[in-house]
Amino acid sequence: MTELHSQTLTELAIGLESGDFTSVELTQALLDRVAEHNDKLNAFVTITADEALATAARADAARETGSGGVLNGLPIIHKDIFCTRGIRTTCGSKMLENFVSPYDATVVEKLSAAGAVVLGKSNMDEFAMGSSTETSYFGPVRNPWNLDCTPGGSSGGSSAAVAARIAPAATGTDTGGSIRQPASLTGTVGIKPTYGRVSRYGMIAFASSLDQAGVITRSAEDAARLLGVMAGFDARDSTSIDQPVPDYTLSIGDSIKGLRVGIVREHFDAGLDQQTGARVREAIAVLESLGATTVEVSLPNLDLSVPTYYVVAPAECSSNLSRFDGVRFGHRAEDPEDLLDLYCRSRGEGFGDEVKRRIMTGTYVLSAGYYDAYYLKAQQVRRLIADDFKKAFANVDVIAGPTTPSPAFKLGDKVDDPITMYLNDIYTIGANLAGLPAMSVPCGLVDDLPVGLHLVGAHFTEEILLRFAHQYQQQTDFHTACPEAFK
Ligand code: GLN
Repeated sequence: MTELHSQTLTELAIGLESGDFTSVELTQALLDRVAEHNDKLNAFVTITADEALATAARADAARETGSGGVLNGLPIIHKDIFCTRGIRTTCGSKMLENFVSPYDATVVEKLSAAGAVVLGKSNMDEFAMGSSTETSYFGPVRNPWNLDCTPGGSSGGSSAAVAARIAPAATGTDTGGSIRQPASLTGTVGIKPTYGRVSRYGMIAFASSLDQAGVITRSAEDAARLLGVMAGFDARDSTSIDQPVPDYTLSIGDSIKGLRVGIVREHFDAGLDQQTGARVREAIAVLESLGATTVEVSLPNLDLSVPTYYVVAPAECSSNLSRFDGVRFGHRAEDPEDLLDLYCRSRGEGFGDEVKRRIMTGTYVLSAGYYDAYYLKAQQVRRLIADDFKKAFANVDVIAGPTTPSPAFKLGDKVDDPITMYLNDIYTIGANLAGLPAMSVPCGLVDDLPVGLHLVGAHFTEEILLRFAHQYQQQTDFHTACPEAFK
């Protein structure tokens, strides 16, 4: 039998079902991996070993009586942005270092109700602002493929843990690329569904018109399995969409023959590392060999997506983060002189530099004198970008390109240069601005580091993305490659 940590979620589900091992055995095996490897990676903020073993024992008992859910006994990790009842939720910030939520996020609730076992909470950029996990109050996460490199961000703890075979799957959130970029840099699969597909209730808000929850896994099949459980209407999230959730696993086996793949003219320009571009072209050739046809499309406003995002996202975050005032929750300054001093020092002490930079930018672009010039303009450009995608999807079923401009960069390399850091999301941000589903699938190595193929679909076409990804993974084995030190 393949070692338990090497198996995908789907393989583990079969093993549990056929009684090859118990959930307690599986959970213990993975907790042993956490103990062995987490010091190197710093992928976890909180490890919930006791709770995990207790849940696993309940899952085993449920299996005996035939009453377990579809994820019964399967271990996962939650990004530390999802509120978990009774277990602290830090969002990677000093502000919430000791915050314990009184309720579970809908995503957490749904996965737990299906029987998932939570191993812990994964490290992330502070309030999900970052592309390298270096803005985390709890220190950076390291990439299992090269410990000097970043695993991406902001869901870097989730991507590192899945890549290092510490957990078969992890939740993540994606406001501008935070599921797909870390998936690309760690050789894992990441999917961000259509805006509104998964409830944001209990997911700490960064930029509410862009935030969406999703998963990081090793295979598209595993992502399909989890997404089916997470997705669906939730009356507690006013942007949640009331549409039936398909069984995503049913259609992934279908052929992609005759489907049209859009190749974006602007994707393969000077900003793309040549080797990364070569891997992506090879991946597209595999899709063609499976019967898909390619069509050139244009996203003429693509280069405006990063500047647009860096007006909209800070504007929304400056509003969302105003709730952290030292009064209701989070860090509170000692011995304040008066109310203003309490606000100023609680926020000054609780937030890190990147969060402060965003709050200041956001407050500026929303201020009376500048609102029209920045925020309103950005919303107009956002519409242009969404329209570009709409035009493209009139002729194609999916858009394929690079997820990131290059493989993982070194920790420390971009941290003092926010603009360069921001440009890492050039290919991913458009899908958030337009609310489209998108995913990253491992498509090879560049200098021994993984890179990803980015697939974007029209609204609510997660099924098509997952089918493309699954068919691609039937032909390739990039997703089965494991970093040497974590075999
Ligand atoms: N890297 C982007 C940012 O820093 C996206 C983050 C995200 O998707 N949460 O805003």
